[in-house]
Amino acid sequence: MNASPNVAALIVAAGRGRRFGGEVPKQYRKIGGRTVLAEAIRHLGAVEAIETFVTVIHAEDGEPYAEAAIQSGVAGSRLASVVGGETRQDSVRAGLERLSQAGFPDDGIVLIHDAARPFAGEAVVMRAILAGMTAGAALPVLPVADTLATLDADGHLLANPDRAAMRAVQTPQAFRFSLIRDAHRRALAERRTDFTDDAGLAAAYGHPVASFAGDPSLFKITLEADLGRAEAHLSGTRETRAGIGYDVHAFTTGDHVVLGGVAVPHTQSLLGHSDADPVLHALTDALLGTIGDGDIGSHFPPSDPQWRGASSDRFLIHARDLVAAAGGRIVNVDCTIICEAPKIGPHRAAMQVRIGEILGLPTAKVGVKATTSEKLGFTGRREGIAVMAIASVVF
Ligand code: MG
Repeated sequence: MNASPNVAALIVAAGRGRRFGGEVPKQYRKIGGRTVLAEAIRHLGAVEAIETFVTVIHAEDGEPYAEAAIQSGVAGSRLASVVGGETRQDSVRAGLERLSQAGFPDDGIVLIHDAARPFAGEAVVMRAILAGMTAGAALPVLPVADTLATLDADGHLLANPDRAAMRAVQTPQAFRFSLIRDAHRRALAERRTDFTDDAGLAAAYGHPVASFAGDPSLFKITLEADLGRAEAHLSGTRETRAGIGYDVHAFTTGDHVVLGGVAVPHTQSLLGHSDADPVLHALTDALLGTIGDGDIGSHFPPSDPQWRGASSDRFLIHARDLVAAAGGRIVNVDCTIICEAPKIGPHRAAMQVRIGEILGLPTAKVGVKATTSEKLGFTGRREGIAVMAIASVVF
């Protein structure tokens, strides 16, 4: 047995979700600002043991898949997609063949997972990998709490099966790669389609399938009401981060300053990097702070002549995109401008609108405040403008 096998996740997201109704397939419905598929990739992506992902998508879903891949925050180098087939079985086989073409080793472990179960935690995924390594084929199960019944065609009780031997089956199901790939190929050759899922297919070809403890968080989003449950689950696990920023620019000769992306007439200008907008610079640092990714100077070195006189929008846009790529959603930003002059009040609303446009936030979530420093210090002596900023981002 290989001590640390190659591990791939095959995420099945090609369904049209007809049971759900509506225009949008359920894997592209949103929960907490991201699509169900993005959450599925994000959760599995947090498990370092999984090196590579193949998501099986519908031919029409290239665009929403690409968006979900970005929203997931998982490095693009770990992600691949392939177009699925008519049935779930066809789609899984397409994903397995994609892994085969990419040279995935026969003794690697593949986790086959439904996108409609977005919350795969590390503990259950590690149980899956271990069970797959040990048994070659394994599925997660939960005990059945409710009494079970079989009914006749009229809906009348026929019998109560003994629930002691019954289990509810989830995904991810774990397999040695060659075992499940070859079983799927054989099913194709024999035109067999009578399998409930991949574990059922493996069992039908004589492979013993072990079980391991599933996880209630792996519930499947099937009905509209499940989206509400998913929202509630997410809000209980979501992490909120804050980042701060601070910037100062000195006055020089000129006739306006740029603050919050807005040109404000003044008897002086600000000296420095780009258009020297300390509001957008401080906000850029605040956003970078939420992902621990350096500061504006490390992304846009002041020594680089290409930023001379540049509009500072691009710095904030860059930070916004890095936050999104890390899976973050900006909740709000706030800043305080410290200067004796110019007066900020008449320009506050324009700054809120401009910053909100860049960050995709309504003005109620963009704070712009101003204060003097009571003629104390460098801002009090009218030598320059200082700005403090904060950003709040949920992940
Ligand atoms: Mg600056």
